[in-house]
Amino acid sequence: MNKAFVSEPEPAEPRCPTPNGCDSLGQRVTRKTLESQLSEDQIATLADKAYYCSSPGCLVAYFDDWGTAVPASALRTSAYPKDPEAPICPCFGVSAEEIRTNAEAGSRERIRELLEKAESHEARCETCSPSGESCVTEVRRLFLQHFQPK
Ligand SMILES: [Zn+2]
Repeated sequence: MNKAFVSEPEPAEPRCPTPNGCDSLGQRVTRKTLESQLSEDQIATLADKAYYCSSPGCLVAYFDDWGTAVPASALRTSAYPKDPEAPICPCFGVSAEEIRTNAEAGSRERIRELLEKAESHEARCETCSPSGESCVTEVRRLFLQHFQPK
């Protein structure tokens, strides 16, 4: 977001509500993302502005400014890395394990292919991923962390 166009001072970003949550900052999610992941009843408990907590060990998925939280167990799509078995890229069902294996084998082709698809219109991150965000940053990070050039 371009801050130059925001006239009002922004209130402090809400944090993942404790004690169930982890007190970290969330990522703002759209209604479309919520509708893809939760039931109407669960969405109704959240305020208009809702956030996603991406912390691996945290059991909270969504929360709002008022301290309401919806647990990760309520999600339709299991979320990586809260669930380490869940696909890192839910749009194309690619696992973190597959990224690691390719990286350790020094093979770039599969990842290049995935990143191209993930940046194309075929990716539906807003409705496939609980965070509503593209997996590209996380895939790149994981790949580089394990990459062993041949
Ligand atoms: Zn949290």
